[in-house]
Order: sequence, then C-alpha cells, then structure tokens
Amino acid sequence: MPELPEVEVTKRALIPHIEGHTIEKLEIRETRLRWPIRVDLLKKVENEIVISLSRRGKYIFINTTPGTAMIHLGMSGSIGVFDQFVPPKKHDHFDIHLANKKIIRFNDPRRFGCFIWAGKQPEKHQLINHLGVEPLAKDFQGDYLYRLSRNRKTTIKAFIMNASVVVGVGNIYANESLFLSGIHPKRRANNIGKKRYQNLAQTIKSILTKSIEMGGTTLRNFSFTYGKEKIGYFKHNLFVYSRGGKECEACGSLIKRIVLSGRGTFYCGKCQR
Ligand SMILES: [Zn+2]
Repeated sequence: MPELPEVEVTKRALIPHIEGHTIEKLEIRETRLRWPIRVDLLKKVENEIVISLSRRGKYIFINTTPGTAMIHLGMSGSIGVFDQFVPPKKHDHFDIHLANKKIIRFNDPRRFGCFIWAGKQPEKHQLINHLGVEPLAKDFQGDYLYRLSRNRKTTIKAFIMNASVVVGVGNIYANESLFLSGIHPKRRANNIGKKRYQNLAQTIKSILTKSIEMGGTTLRNFSFTYGKEKIGYFKHNLFVYSRGGKECEACGSLIKRIVLSGRGTFYCGKCQR
C-alpha cells in the first residue's frame, strides 16, 4: 500500500510535469473507483492551468482556479507520466491530458483509489477536514502528542496510527518508530511521559524523511520506471517490521509478533518498554 513517503515522492516527481501547465482534457475509462468518479464536476479543471500540486495526508491536490481535484492511491494505485500516444494498459483508469502533450496516467488494479472534486476549499472537504497534523510540519512535536494523549487509554501504536492525531504513520512506520524510540507498542498512550513523546515525534519525522529521500533516488527515471518499482519503503532497513522470530539487531532477543487493532505488530520485548 502506498504510504505517505511514496505519495510525497509521487507528488514531487509530478510537480515539474504538471505545475504551470494547462490541463487540456480528462479521459476517464473507468469511473468505479472507491467512490465513483464524478466526471461532470472534475471537468471544471479542463482548460485550466495547474497553479500548484500539494499533498495533505495521502491525498494529492491538483490546485486550479475553479478548485481542487484530489487523487488518493488507495491500496494499489500509482501515477505515471507518459507521452500522449502511449496506449493505456489494463487498470489505467484515467488520464489527465496536458497541453504540452504529456499525460498523467492513473493505474490502480484494486480500485481503492479515488479521483475527487474537492472544490475551492479542499481543507473543508469531508475526507480532509478531520485529518490531524502533518508529521513533517513544525506543529507535530512531542508536546503535541503528550497533550493530546492525556485522556487516551488506547495503545500508543493505535494512537500514532490514528489519522485524526497525525496523518501518514502507517503500520510499517508505526512499528519501526516505536522500536527506535524504545516504546512498547501496547503501552497506553496516557502512560508515556513528555520526554519519550519528544523522542518519538523526532523519530517519526526522521524515519519518514529518510524514506522520502530513498524514494527520491528513482526520480530521475520517473516517467518510465515509476509504477514498476516499489519505492518509498525501507526494504533493507527494517528493524522489526515483518521480522517476527528473527533476532533483534540491538540486543539479539527474538522479535515478537502480535496482532494489535487488527494489524501485524512487531517488537522487541527487551528493547521496548
Ligand atoms: Zn532488542
């Protein structure tokens, strides 16, 4: 599943292709995504210049004068840039044709992604307005987590994965950042001190930043290789995630696997308290 770093990498890779360019037309081949594509509304972007491309949570915002169209990659979505005559493949559900003869093409085998008209104030859209802070923004700090957690009896793992607290901390990043912060995933959120929260917030920031930088290495060949390669994940640098039964790299104990809030949870019982 594309996580926040992969969405950020996608956004950055798309910016030079789309910002400042005019959208000529939309070509929708399949409207049945997670929510049906409202072609009538999205048509408003036709013949408009893309003012900017931005990201909120895992949504990519295409900002134009009449309003914002937003894309979510869902479980299996990816976006590529192609020359206009490249024929679509299976699962290529829509194209955004640009006046510069390039197309932005959305592929999504499982169709959990979406392409939605969010109007002039996308931050007020119902899919966006409940979202918590951005993990890479200044306002995401240990003090913020500490304050918010005082009356939360939920586990720390569920707390940091709650999108109304902070967006973009998916299962991999939650597991890894708790290990690196030495916090047991089952510890109650209201039972963690300010110092440990400060450490955790910095760890989340650095793990996401590092992942974005790693994804960035494939940007050069974005137009041709993106979509075939999985980027943005810590493929070789995972300390606990998916390592159940293997040795902890810090202490040699065996990594445990449990299920917490329905998600695979990995931790070292010795390093994490
Ligand atoms: Zn350990």
